[in-house]
Amino acid sequence: MKRFDYIKPTNVDEAVAALASNVGAQLIAGGTNIVDLMKYDVAAPSLLIDINGLALKDIEALPKGGFRIGALVSNTDIAYHDGIQRHYPLLSSAILAGASPQLRNAATAGGNLLQRTRCYYFYDPSTPCNKRQPGSGCSAIGGVNRIHAILGASPSCIAVHPSDMCVALAALDAVVEVTGPNGRREIAFADFHRLPGDTPEKDNTLAFGEIVTGIRIEGQPDPTHHTYLKLRDRLSYAFALISVAVSLDMDQRVISGARVALGGVAHKPWRDRQAEAALIGRDPSESDFRTFATTLLAPAKGQGGNDFKIPLAEKAIVRALRQAVAGTPQVQSVKAIA
Ligand code: SF4
Repeated sequence: MKRFDYIKPTNVDEAVAALASNVGAQLIAGGTNIVDLMKYDVAAPSLLIDINGLALKDIEALPKGGFRIGALVSNTDIAYHDGIQRHYPLLSSAILAGASPQLRNAATAGGNLLQRTRCYYFYDPSTPCNKRQPGSGCSAIGGVNRIHAILGASPSCIAVHPSDMCVALAALDAVVEVTGPNGRREIAFADFHRLPGDTPEKDNTLAFGEIVTGIRIEGQPDPTHHTYLKLRDRLSYAFALISVAVSLDMDQRVISGARVALGGVAHKPWRDRQAEAALIGRDPSESDFRTFATTLLAPAKGQGGNDFKIPLAEKAIVRALRQAVAGTPQVQSVKAIA
C-alpha cells in the first residue's frame, strides 16, 4: 500500500489549483479505472483529488438544441435521459453497450473520456510499456496483440482507446469543456484524444492542471438513421474488438449528412471525413458501403495477432451503414445482432 493524501474540493477553481500545484496529483470521480490502476501499481498518486463535491452533475438543454452534460453525470443518467434518448439515441446506445449496470452507475462522463487503455501490458508493471514507463519499450509489438490498433499506431505504442461512449461522441462532433490554470477553453472532440506518436504516455490534449468540466452535443441530427454496432468476444461486459457509430441525415433515400466513427481500432475514436463526404448525395447501395469501408481502412495495418480486425472492421462498417440507412439500429438492451 502506497500512502497518498486526499482532498475533496468544493468548487472547480479549488480543484484546478490543487491539480496544477502538485505533479503527483490525480483526480478521482467514479473511481472505476483509477482504483484499478492504483491496485495494479500502475498509478501511484501522491494526492487524490476527489471531485465528487463539484457542481458538475447536471444535464442542461441548450437553447438551440442539444445538451450540456456535466463531467460528473453518471453514464447511466446520460443513457436514460429522456432528451438524449429521443434526440441522440446513438449516444444512449453506445453507453449501454459498455461495461455493466453497476459500472455505468458509478462511472462519470469525464471519467469515461479519461479512462486508460486496457492493453494487458499496461496493467502489468513487470513488462516494458512506453505508455506506463516512457522509453521502456512496447511489449505488445511482437507480443500478444489481439485487441490492439490497426489504425494510427506508432512504433512506440499500438494501444486502443477503450470507450464506447467516446465513439458516439466523436460521431456527434461533441465539444469538451475544460478549465485550467489559464481559465476555460473548449476542445473539439476530434482533437481531444491523440494518436500515440512517440509520446504514448499522453492520451489526450489536456494541458497540465486542466479538468474536464462538461461535454456539449449540439445540433439536431436525424435520430432515426443511426446505429452503434459493437463486436466483442462476449455479449456483455467486454471491450469492443471493433465498434462502429453511424449518424446519418437522410433526405428520403438520399444521404445528406454522414458521420461515422470507429472504436477498438486506434488510440482515439477514428473518423475519415473525406470518406464520409463521398457518401453525401448517394442513394446508397451495398457497393457504396463497401467502397466507404475500403477507403476508410486503406491505411489499416495488422500486428499479427489482430490481423483479423481488418476484414472484421470492413464487415462491421458495411453492416452498420446498412442498419443506419434502414433505420434499424442495434438494440443494446437485447444485444441481438440485427
Ligand atoms: Fe504499452 Fe502501448 Fe505497448 Fe500496450 S501497446 S505495451 S500500452 S506501449
